[in-house]
Amino acid sequence: MDIPRIFNISESAHRIHNPFTPEKLATLGAALHLKPGVRMLDLGSGSGEMLCTWARDHGIIGTGIDMSPLFTAQAKLRAKELGVANQVEFIHGNAAGYVADKKADVAACIGATWIGGGVAGTIHLLAKSLCAGGLILIGEPYWRQLPPTEEVARGCDSEHSEPISISDFLILPELLASFGELGYELVEMVLANQDSWDRYEAAKWLTMRRWLDANPKDDFAKVVQAQLTSEPERYVKYQREYLGWGVFALMARGG
Ligand code: SAH
Repeated sequence: MDIPRIFNISESAHRIHNPFTPEKLATLGAALHLKPGVRMLDLGSGSGEMLCTWARDHGIIGTGIDMSPLFTAQAKLRAKELGVANQVEFIHGNAAGYVADKKADVAACIGATWIGGGVAGTIHLLAKSLCAGGLILIGEPYWRQLPPTEEVARGCDSEHSEPISISDFLILPELLASFGELGYELVEMVLANQDSWDRYEAAKWLTMRRWLDANPKDDFAKVVQAQLTSEPERYVKYQREYLGWGVFALMARGG
């Protein structure tokens, strides 16, 4: 079980597989006032940077599930490196439908809401693993400005993903309103910006170039080269201008 190979190449050197810098991830961790022993669940945990650094900085414990064997292996190494391997565990698997045995205080899905079939489905899935009064964290794109055409919307993601349509994302006020409609209150948020998007997207280019230099005869080299050639312009023309991204902290409405 694995994700498409292009991601295991272009994001192999990423610790954070979304448009957050380490500083933004730390800002979010601090903003949530996490207490030692807080239990977290992370669906689509990638290379484990959120669980590992928050275990180190705030003493949380938790579990991450991810479909990429490479990212899961990197997460386990990172936990050892940061001295938190006794606090966090990483499971290689499909997180779709995953419900934890032990309920979590914080249940997260950061930049992988297709796992639950979209934002609403993912909130519903995470809620099944959540303690009463717990926090849900959703990392999700939104339109910084509405694309004028479907062609512009399609340009907001690389050709290796499902084509994006205008209707796939909301503008920020609508996204926040949608959480309310699902019965949740927004209690915190940290948003990406264009510079933090660059750390996600531009960081892939050097990784791809280095991979091409090391693997010139690989069958996949043509695909990687085509991506490296087209990505920078595509990214600055469309994605960097139109697509926003943030992590939203939600609590079920009381009463
Ligand atoms: N939350 C991480 C990773 C985000 S990228 C971070 O912020 O760094 C999306 C992640 O979802 C990738 O690591 C990918 O391997 C994982 N993924 C994709 N489909 C999945 C599935 N069905 N179950 C579990 N993980 C999945």
